[in-house]
Amino acid sequence: MNEPALSINLPQARVLVVDDHPGTATTLARAISQLGPGIEVVSATSGKMALEQVRDNAVDLVITDMMMPDMNGLELIEKLQSHPGGRPAYTILITAYDVPGLKESARRLKVNQTIIKPFRPEHICQIVSKALEDFGPSKQLKKTTNLKQPHKILIADDVQDNLSLLSRYLVNEGYSFVTANNGIKALEITRSEMPDLILLDINMPEKDGFEVLKEIRLDPAIEHIPVIILTAARPDPVDVRAGLELGADDYVTKPFDRRELLARIRTKLRAKESEGNIRRRNKELSVLPEIGKDLSARLDMDELTDIILRRSVETLGAMVGQVIILNHGEPLRKEYRISASSSPAFEVQFPALDDLLNQVKEARQGMIINDTNNDDRWRITAEIPPSSAIVVPLFGRLDVIGILVLIHEQKGYFNSEHQLLLQAIASQAAIALENVILYTSMTQERQRVAAIFQRSEDAILTFAADGSLTMLNPAGEKLFQNDEIKLGQSLTRGSGYDTLKDLLDEAFSSRKAHSREITWPDKRVFTALVTPIENDGYVTMLHDVTHFKELDRAKDDFISTASHDLRTPISVIRGYMELLPQVGPLNKKQIEYIECIHAATETMNELAGNILELAKMATGMELQLEHLDVCELLEKITNEFQPQAKAKKQSLLFGKNRDIPKVDADHVQLGRALRNLVGNAVKYTPVNGSIKTSVEVRENQLSIRVVDNGYGIPADDLPFIFDRFYRVHHEASMDDESNGLGLSIVKSIVEQHKGTISVESEQGEGSCFTIVLPLAQQSPPDVPNSKTNRLSEWKGSIK
Ligand code: ADP
Repeated sequence: MNEPALSINLPQARVLVVDDHPGTATTLARAISQLGPGIEVVSATSGKMALEQVRDNAVDLVITDMMMPDMNGLELIEKLQSHPGGRPAYTILITAYDVPGLKESARRLKVNQTIIKPFRPEHICQIVSKALEDFGPSKQLKKTTNLKQPHKILIADDVQDNLSLLSRYLVNEGYSFVTANNGIKALEITRSEMPDLILLDINMPEKDGFEVLKEIRLDPAIEHIPVIILTAARPDPVDVRAGLELGADDYVTKPFDRRELLARIRTKLRAKESEGNIRRRNKELSVLPEIGKDLSARLDMDELTDIILRRSVETLGAMVGQVIILNHGEPLRKEYRISASSSPAFEVQFPALDDLLNQVKEARQGMIINDTNNDDRWRITAEIPPSSAIVVPLFGRLDVIGILVLIHEQKGYFNSEHQLLLQAIASQAAIALENVILYTSMTQERQRVAAIFQRSEDAILTFAADGSLTMLNPAGEKLFQNDEIKLGQSLTRGSGYDTLKDLLDEAFSSRKAHSREITWPDKRVFTALVTPIENDGYVTMLHDVTHFKELDRAKDDFISTASHDLRTPISVIRGYMELLPQVGPLNKKQIEYIECIHAATETMNELAGNILELAKMATGMELQLEHLDVCELLEKITNEFQPQAKAKKQSLLFGKNRDIPKVDADHVQLGRALRNLVGNAVKYTPVNGSIKTSVEVRENQLSIRVVDNGYGIPADDLPFIFDRFYRVHHEASMDDESNGLGLSIVKSIVEQHKGTISVESEQGEGSCFTIVLPLAQQSPPDVPNSKTNRLSEWKGSIK
């Protein structure tokens, strides 16, 4: 096969062969060195090694594999092009995959031939010898590979006349041709020249046309080439059928009708071209699943945007790409340029793309800019070489989340097919980007929660729905130092945590948040809050308030001592005041002043008494419980206030009820509470008003009520009136007489008796205070009563 046909008088030349597969590199190197005596071949198995080999002496021709571990073929070619000894005159790139963008990158680097594997060494030898013949070693490449080449047709016929005739027809029509005069040559030339169409004679020496056709259709590298059979003048129908069955695309009979022949050739070439387009499109589309896989595996924004850009630029054969992502706040911008960006042709720049981003966002569709120098949408400021651009939106689940922009250095490079392809890539990219955005914010959120959880000084414990402990933070761990509870276990009763256990049980059964003060076995006090987590158990927070409790106690002690000590000087003032008239007669003015001092000391004494009372209650008052007849007590107290009521022309009534059971109560304390309520009712009811007191049994509890039709309490004040020192401003009442402590004392006393106090009031209408106390243990059964609005019921009764 290595016939002298290839052994032309080639000039002196230095050829570099690089392939990471040593066998391939050696075979190729040997084949090329046999091309002529002046050819020196240098071979290498990696890009680095190749650069090392040619460091001191440049090469004229390079043949390199694309996929190599340390440096790919294109990177090697780019490096060799800036060799100080001169750039190679001819470059050949061999690749296993015809990735769509690869040819474009190769074209940009002025790679002369891109050969798809598998290849035959003879084919490469032919290209090499032709290149060396054409250009000579030192000449620079003159033609560019993107010029449209004429269709090349192989004429396989053993009759010289037919060859000459057909070649003339073809040349006149603008086709180029190659010839073969036997079957074996026809196959060889098909493989090495890759013609666009074959005119195949049936009767040929060595191998007939049928054999050749059969082999062509079995070889994946050439099977797609259309074949037109040239048959005898009177063709045997069997032959024609056999030829068509073997995969011939058409047949023509001799002698040839020129027009018919050329028409058939044109049709087949057109069909081949559209088939080629479909094949190319399929190849482009076949990269989509691969890109999708590549993108979905990333969770790092930087890495993901890199891949989106690189894949888009490579797939569309663009030069530069930019992605802009809107992710709360400042848009994220990322740019990518293919490695050949050192060439001046690559100095293309992106303008500020904000306007474009808004346009695409609004229109929800991409755009092609055929000439970036003459398009208002592309606002460039600097003088840059003309180029074209393509923009597609990145559609998120709810809105456009950004844009993907590519630039090509040729005007009008991008077409609608590019747009469809890029949009398909962008759709996959948008999903991956949204996933990363979500994942990132989720991770940040988790880190934030984890930091709070870890560093919180409050103990945080989570429990599953079955009550078992699922998580606890370091502060929580410190609370259970003796391993009383482990993850996966529940709190057991009787181990000192019953108050917490009660709270948990309440929250578990009501599925609502519950909060309470609880005491730890070591006497520390915590405010505990148990909150249900949707479908995921409960979270409990324990805040240590022991210190505040101690401070509160110290404050109460101080107040108690101070108010107690205050009462002594007040008593002295009172005593001497009473003695004054005995030491001599007083004039009118003196009597008047003494009365003022008397009133003020009384108020002071009451205030000190109240403060002392509250302080006592806060530190824990000892109740002297007895079986108490509240009816009797309330009647007595109501009567005590008759003089004041009379003075204000008020009706003050006690509503007597029969058979009222007794309660367990301290008669002094409860008496104090009732005096406060009746006193307030008289105080905050105007002249001619009515007040009614009563006791009854409701829902198995004792209900004591003091109702008036006085000033009432504004709704805004109602929630606070039991707070210490809280006073409501009544236009008509004697505000200066009050200190806002009475009701807080009442509340404390009632709660000490395990009872509750409530109020219903309407401004200008009156108030109804109700104390509810549990009945004494041995009390007779309750008298059932219906629930009604007590205020309106009582308002009716006192009018
Ligand atoms: P004070 O010593 O001011 O009466 P209290 O704690 O007894 O303190 O009452 C708090 C406030 O509640 C009072 O300032 C008063 O405005 C209001 N209040 C209490 N009882 C009544 C009532 N029966 N009618 C209207 N307002 C009342």
